[in-house]
Amino acid sequence: MRKSKTITIERKPRKCPVCGNKVVKIVYGMPGPELMEQAMSGEVILGGCCIISDENGNQLDPEFGCVECGTRFKRK
Ligand SMILES: [Zn+2]
Repeated sequence: MRKSKTITIERKPRKCPVCGNKVVKIVYGMPGPELMEQAMSGEVILGGCCIISDENGNQLDPEFGCVECGTRFKRK
């Protein structure tokens, strides 16, 4: 399994600063058929139904992700 890291950003990057590939939105929750299709074609990343939070209850779920290297981007 590839190790992915999370980078804090101000706004959605057009390209991944690590590998230069496409950066797309990460969608959380149970995906419907439409979302599954978008995920298959690389338009979105499915974040799963569990939203990760730290011990203080702050959500740690990143908003965008690189389709290639798995780097995640979280807005400030
Ligand atoms: Zn990348």
